[in-house]
Amino acid sequence: MTFDRGRPATVRADQTTVRRANLGGVLRHIAAGGPCSRARVAAETGLTRGTVSSLVGELIDLGLLRETGEDESPGRVGRPAQTLELAGMAVAVGLEVNVDYLAVSLEDLTGQIRYERQVFVDNRKSAPGPVLDRLVRMARQALDEAERQQLLVVGVGVAVPGLVESDSGVVLRAPNLGWTRLAVASEIGRRLPGLPIRVENEANLAALAEHWQGSARGTRNFIFVFGEIGVGGGIFVDGELYRGAHGFGGEFGHITVDLAGGALCACGSRGCLETVIGQEVIARACGVEIASGGRVQSVTAELVRRATADDPLVHRTLEAVGATLGTALASAVNLFDLDAVVLGGCFGPLSPWLTEGVRLALRERVLSAEWSTCEVYASALGELAAVRGAAALILRDVLSAPWSIGERRLAVSEAAS
Ligand SMILES: [Zn+2]
Repeated sequence: MTFDRGRPATVRADQTTVRRANLGGVLRHIAAGGPCSRARVAAETGLTRGTVSSLVGELIDLGLLRETGEDESPGRVGRPAQTLELAGMAVAVGLEVNVDYLAVSLEDLTGQIRYERQVFVDNRKSAPGPVLDRLVRMARQALDEAERQQLLVVGVGVAVPGLVESDSGVVLRAPNLGWTRLAVASEIGRRLPGLPIRVENEANLAALAEHWQGSARGTRNFIFVFGEIGVGGGIFVDGELYRGAHGFGGEFGHITVDLAGGALCACGSRGCLETVIGQEVIARACGVEIASGGRVQSVTAELVRRATADDPLVHRTLEAVGATLGTALASAVNLFDLDAVVLGGCFGPLSPWLTEGVRLALRERVLSAEWSTCEVYASALGELAAVRGAAALILRDVLSAPWSIGERRLAVSEAAS
């Protein structure tokens, strides 16, 4: 029997919209604030206890929340208030194509890594097809692991060092890989049918990961800068990744810093920031040999080793790098009024020698420095920030649209039958 027969369709649509919004609201409340009872969710969100109970029941059925079995206030008289927390059943696969490695990460909604693998390979010397074939083989191993652990894979995120049209998943240009106009989402989708695929710039994803689980947790306005062969950036404004009009925002490495002309950049322009403080440029200035096809990380490790041993050339070079990086960051802070900058890629391990120069430049060049302090943090997630962000991109979709899990389950069971 139905009670709403004859009601206008718009009323039903509005009820669905409201319930979905509340479902997402309750899930995000527990994700942000940690374990919590139904009564406390009701008090803190302003929803009635009855509504919260019904929403929580649905979220438990979807496998997104679970009862911890603990009483929120033990010793209190009356019925125990069961504490709720995020459940780890829903997982996302993160994939990353980097210049000299491929990575995969299987991460659940609680932020726990269920499977992780990194393979070192020089992707600059390979055509895109074989690179994507190898990446998909790594993804399949993660999917097998998800099946073994009886987890529900909600989608695949892919990190690429280049300009990505996020709606279509087309990589327009990845200068350091030599890729142009490559439909990465559909190429991977063809190899992994039935899974939602999203592609995003690696620095944007690393920023997302630092906000989700790393140094910028709880920081609403910050820039993440990523030093490798190229220099990337990801900007968070009001707690959300700032993509710009087409998803191309945050290209921090291509800010012009050498106005006298400067060296030719991989992007075709001259005097870009990455031609002055890219990792290979730093290494050369420090007298560190870069072997052909050598790993970015081994160059960073050598720079750290020499800086720790008080090599004067390395100290002088890093002091200058910190000043240049800080000057460029000050422009970003002046534009966006940021609470923090996060140093990632090679800048993370080198931060003990860069931070002072960055802080000084921010103090001198940020107009509002007298009234607001911009913090300088080192990346907490290191080299795997981007691949973790690729998984986080998909998991954040679950937090904003938890009902989509029901649809995903249905698709999985239909595919299995
Ligand atoms: Zn450039």
